Amino acid sequence: MTLSWQSETQLQDMEPHERLHITCLKCSYQWYHDVDEWVGHPCHKYLFVDEIAKLIICPQFGCGCRKFRVAKPFLGDTEAFVGGMP
Ligand SMILES: [Zn+2]
Repeated sequence: MTLSWQSETQLQDMEPHERLHITCLKCSYQWYHDVDEWVGHPCHKYLFVDEIAKLIICPQFGCGCRKFRVAKPFLGDTEAFVGGMP
């Protein structure tokens, strides 16, 4: 259930300025990862969010965990993508 949007959302479906809130399941370290940074790699563009999460390694020194909770920091209308300039 909780993983549904992650396995259905490709990076190219997200706005480049959007960020994912990532929480390490081992050391609880939290950070934001820019979608833009991933989309910059052509081969990453078509990956789903849960696949991208497998590419991440916890940046905390000595942790190296590869399991994370990935969340959208802008929870609300999950379907409502507003186009145009802010
Ligand atoms: Zn960690």
